[in-house]
Amino acid sequence: MPQLYDFVIIGNSAAGLQALRTLRRHERRKTIAIIDREDCPAYSRVLTPYYVGGHIERDGLDIVDQTFYQQLGVTTVFGQTVASINPEGHFLELADGEKVGFDKLLIATGAEARTLSVSSERTTVLRHAADAIKIRELLSGAKAVTAIGAGLVSLPLLSHAADVMEKHLVVGSNRIFSRVVDAEASAILEESLQAKGLKLFKRNDVENIAEGERLTLSLKSGDKLQSDLLIVGKGVQPNTQLASAAGLQVNDGVLIDQFCCSSHPDIYAAGDAAEGADFIDGEATIQGNWMTAVEQGEHAALNMLGFSAAYEGSLKNNITEIFGIDVAAVGYCSDDAPETVCNYSADTGRFRKVFLDEQQRVIGATMIGETNDSGLYYQLVRTRSLFPGKQLLAGTANYAQTQLRLAS
Ligand SMILES: Cc1cc2nc3c(=O)[nH]c(=O)nc-3n(C[C@H](O)[C@H](O)[C@H](O)COP(=O)(O)OP(=O)(O)OC[C@H]3O[C@@H](n4cnc5c(N)ncnc54)[C@H](O)[C@@H]3O)c2cc1C
Repeated sequence: MPQLYDFVIIGNSAAGLQALRTLRRHERRKTIAIIDREDCPAYSRVLTPYYVGGHIERDGLDIVDQTFYQQLGVTTVFGQTVASINPEGHFLELADGEKVGFDKLLIATGAEARTLSVSSERTTVLRHAADAIKIRELLSGAKAVTAIGAGLVSLPLLSHAADVMEKHLVVGSNRIFSRVVDAEASAILEESLQAKGLKLFKRNDVENIAEGERLTLSLKSGDKLQSDLLIVGKGVQPNTQLASAAGLQVNDGVLIDQFCCSSHPDIYAAGDAAEGADFIDGEATIQGNWMTAVEQGEHAALNMLGFSAAYEGSLKNNITEIFGIDVAAVGYCSDDAPETVCNYSADTGRFRKVFLDEQQRVIGATMIGETNDSGLYYQLVRTRSLFPGKQLLAGTANYAQTQLRLAS
């Protein structure tokens, strides 16, 4: 007979950890097990570029320590991979053959970084702490570093590498951060980053890697780059294999309803592995950010406990710092929004663009130069608020405060 738990969580990161906290906040007596193939307490992937750049040490990544799980009275099964799930039998099987029974299960298995078709010993992705440790070793003594893909992995990572290094960025599209900010914000960032020494190769790809004392990278454009390492930041692939093999409905991610429940009533999913409704347009999407993972983990746990907690939908919410410049994007930030309101000062580098729907409600915002007000925009989007600037036209109050934030 397998060991039976009331709740089992696969994945000890943003989604799994929040689910764990929520389950225990409401229920002290029921049994919980959390399983992860990484053999360590939960840590922040978001901070790994800071570790790579030597700004923090490995323990600076930790969110909790081992005593956290003991204090919650939770069984940890770390360093073990879940090999399969049997939904009808209500048990899962670990890679070593051990079976673990569950009443309710949460799949919070996240995602893996996509790799290139060409590779070398000095080519690496950044997803796990082990990757970060490898990159930090490769960077020590390096004179040049190249990253491919201009998103939330490559840009923070290049920006935290030592300034004495030559830094190259190879991008498939015609602009950087294209999945994060609008085109105007991309253009402002490109100019600033190039002024800080970043060498940009747009509409490009790495087609061949020749090993030698240094790597010689052959680009699609015909350019050749000498580099000591290549970092691949070409997006992620959700870990859905367990769910697919168990017969759950899977598209790009494990499909979940508004209660974060999969197509099986006792199996929930959350975070980068889960595909659920977007807050703005209701389309099934994988947001791929820490806050969505936390929010979905929380809602999944509440519903596993028997509450009826509908999740209103996920939102883009990225706040980062690249090459010393604060950047944030909240909600819907594409230029095809019905209306945008923009304020930019080339002198201070401060940029604000607010995206509005047909009813003049705030659906998103991009910010450069200062991101303190990203929480305000997040709330405006979440509460489907009218843009305060428009309210001024109608004679209401909030405008001055927001306009000050926009324009100061
Ligand atoms: C370098 C980097 C920078 C980032 N920057 C930002 C940022 O600035 N802002 C932001 O919002 N987000 C950022 N993200 C994204 C953010 O980290 C993710 O959205 C978040 O980690 C998702 O959490 P999760 O719990 O869904 O999954 P994950 O964090 O991917 O964790 C999933 C866990 O499941 C485990 N697992 C998977 N399969 C199995 C199995 N079969 N058996 C056992 N265990 C398994 C894995 O080992 C892993 O620990 C960044 C990510 C990276 C890598």
